[in-house]
Amino acid sequence: MSLQDHLLARIAQDGPMSVADFMTDCLLHPTDGYYTTRDPLGTQGDFITAPEISQMFGELIGLSLAQSWLDQRHPPNFVLAELGPGRGTLMADLLRATSRVPGFHDAAEIVLLEVSPTLRSIQAQTLKGYDPRWIDSVADLPEAPLFLIANEFFDALPIRQFQRTGNGWRERLIGAEGNALIWGLGPLAEQVALKDRLYDTKDGDVVELCAAAIPVITVIAGRIATHGGAGVIVDYGDWHSQGDTFQALRAHERADPLAVPGQADLTAHVDFEPLALATRAAGCAHSRLTPQGVFLERLGITTRAQTLSAQLDGSKRDDLIAAHRRLTHPEEMGNLFKVLGLYPSPSSPPPGLEP
Ligand code: SAH
Repeated sequence: MSLQDHLLARIAQDGPMSVADFMTDCLLHPTDGYYTTRDPLGTQGDFITAPEISQMFGELIGLSLAQSWLDQRHPPNFVLAELGPGRGTLMADLLRATSRVPGFHDAAEIVLLEVSPTLRSIQAQTLKGYDPRWIDSVADLPEAPLFLIANEFFDALPIRQFQRTGNGWRERLIGAEGNALIWGLGPLAEQVALKDRLYDTKDGDVVELCAAAIPVITVIAGRIATHGGAGVIVDYGDWHSQGDTFQALRAHERADPLAVPGQADLTAHVDFEPLALATRAAGCAHSRLTPQGVFLERLGITTRAQTLSAQLDGSKRDDLIAAHRRLTHPEEMGNLFKVLGLYPSPSSPPPGLEP
């Protein structure tokens, strides 16, 4: 049965489905899910991410986390974790850059949260020699100081969408017409979780909720509050996302999310305010939400780019200059992507971020 048939059968049986259920099936279906079946990254794939654009991204984040580790009196045993490590490129760059920080590697247990068997095996290749361990859930993160990075992980978590009608909300649902998947609206209902969104929306506006993000950030914030550590969360989005940000990307082009189930990457912008509130509720501090370009500039990306480019010439040098621009420029990824840092209350945020 194809994924399309599976979705049609599910709708025939249970009625129209939420965007969250659709995302979960399309991305994570055990045999036909997008992430379960392929390596989606890079020029041959569907999308490209910051660590795949340049080694500088992982290097600078690594040095920021290592500095936090030093500032917190270098705990002798800690967890160095990544959520959704893709090809393992960021972690490899991070580890190379931190190899000169005395004691950092010896004290680190490398733990990776990854759902995709295909990507797990690529990560094992990329990180050969480092002995990482994989987990299925953040609940499996050891009770120890936690230094964590998550780049473009939260945008893959399932969201629900609601359209405002008067002072109530109708959920955007996916149903079927013949063999085609189509959009529809559920019945008008009050939504307690959307009470605060009546102030910044008007009739007809769409808002999104990502319930799955809350238990994830709560565990991470809890570990950091209890044992020390730091978290760097990078994703596209803002304090409040506005409107319909649900999108499908296939071969680097926007696609219709309902047309190619399981064949395209599905994401939504991350709402950082609920992540920040859950962090505080778990007793952990967080930084200001900071644009990626500002964060990387503060960490010295321009100096790093100059050092690297002095060793290059021709098209390699042009590529590096283009990568620097792409990661930092406000019209490219510099402003669309934001960074939230987590840290234990008495210490300071990881370098590059402000309290
Ligand atoms: N961080 C990488 C990859 C981003 S793509 C980079 O920047 O290049 C999203 C990653 O999250 C992939 O590794 C994907 O398999 C993983 N992922 C998506 N949903 C997940 C889930 N629910 N649990 C664990 N991993 C997930």
